[in-house]
Amino acid sequence: MPDHSKFLLADSQIPNVWVNVLPSLKEPLDPPLNPRTRAPLAPQDLAPIFPMELIEQEFSPKAEIDIPGEVMDIYRLWRATPLYRARRLEKALDTPAHIYYKYEGTSPAGSHKPNTAVAQAYYNKRAGIKRLATETGAGQWGSALALACQLFGMECTVYMVRVSYDQKPYRRMMMHVWGAEVFPSPSDHTNSGRAVLAATPDSPGSLGIAISEAVEDAATHGDTNYSLGSVLNHVLLHQTVIGQEARLQMALAGEEPDVVIGCFGGGSNFGGLALPYVLDRFAGKGPRILAVEPSACPTLTKGRFTYDYGDTAKLTPLVKMYTLGHDFVPPGIHAGGLRYHGASPLLSHLLKHGYIEAKAYTQTPVFEAAIQFSRTEGILPAPESSHAIRAAMDEALAAREEGRARVILFNLSGHGHFDLSAYENYLTGKLQDFEYPSHDIERAMAALENSTV
Ligand SMILES: *Cc1c(COP(=O)(O)O)cnc(C)c1O
Repeated sequence: MPDHSKFLLADSQIPNVWVNVLPSLKEPLDPPLNPRTRAPLAPQDLAPIFPMELIEQEFSPKAEIDIPGEVMDIYRLWRATPLYRARRLEKALDTPAHIYYKYEGTSPAGSHKPNTAVAQAYYNKRAGIKRLATETGAGQWGSALALACQLFGMECTVYMVRVSYDQKPYRRMMMHVWGAEVFPSPSDHTNSGRAVLAATPDSPGSLGIAISEAVEDAATHGDTNYSLGSVLNHVLLHQTVIGQEARLQMALAGEEPDVVIGCFGGGSNFGGLALPYVLDRFAGKGPRILAVEPSACPTLTKGRFTYDYGDTAKLTPLVKMYTLGHDFVPPGIHAGGLRYHGASPLLSHLLKHGYIEAKAYTQTPVFEAAIQFSRTEGILPAPESSHAIRAAMDEALAAREEGRARVILFNLSGHGHFDLSAYENYLTGKLQDFEYPSHDIERAMAALENSTV
């Protein structure tokens, strides 16, 4: 295939099922627990905030789930996303490796997140829900859900961490364009928000507080549900369109990956690309699969595999996952989407059992990689996605050292057009690196033991 740089699919080749790995697991997943009784969660426990069809997907025994026609109609606005071969980057690195990337930044919101936002809005609409409430940090998830709600004629309420609301206005404006209402969190719109404001009127907010506000909003309004952008099985399920398309596109390129790489926040873009390949791993073949996280929030590489809450206020079920403790507050690194104390239980399980690997990087080498990628391939990547670029480049450099070619596939989960101040910080030498001190992790772990056992 001489000199081809991009591999495209026709609309008719967009996958019409989502791939579910749950029935293929060799060892069963530990069940989520009811936060009050500590008994395994019953599906009805989730019914106050999620529609039944999504709850069923969360525990589904089916290997494939049909994508509804109305979701396919919306996917066709930007899917299939392109797969590129990074020929110019390969040349710059002088590597015998072949580097491929799946680019999810072509969606209207600029990341992979609409793949699940659209599906979640659809099932909620079918269940008669009029409004979705959610939290957002830097605004990537909030803008994806605002878009999805708009496309299905639903209302959307976003609790946006106050410091981002003030400092990162463009995503907020995007949400307004798509018709969402956006509250800086803590807000005086919920009891949880008012309680925080009473104690600390100038609180900068946190994802933990914003989750509590969105969950409370959903739980106290009959026509409103809650929506989560990562971590849960049904979210990862919806993202498997990425990996299915990538497999078809790698076939067009006439190659099979030796290693598959994705950045890791809660696990949805990584899982979306990797899960179809995990099925190969179960069959004793398939590529190495590598998750890449920030050293400032080293959930997979330094966290503990145990039961923990998904939020600071302990409103969510207890799930078995790699975690740094629900009280863990990571430093304010620029990859906001990777600042989560926990991880997808499914991907945690696969890491524990050796089907996937994990690696962490500090910010500076990640931005170095982002700049080199941008100057060779042109695309300006999101700081989150740039963790995957760093790891892919290091694989390519290792191939050069060893004098052995290999095929690398990574997920470029989004563009960085709203992260330009981070690039400016890097270019003017103001970027700070954070390696989370191990004694702080020990302390967070001890707090975790005390609060959950
Ligand atoms: C939100 C986000 C992430 C991190 O979330 P995951 O669920 O781990 O994928 C990564 N990249 C981009 C561009 C994001 O918007």
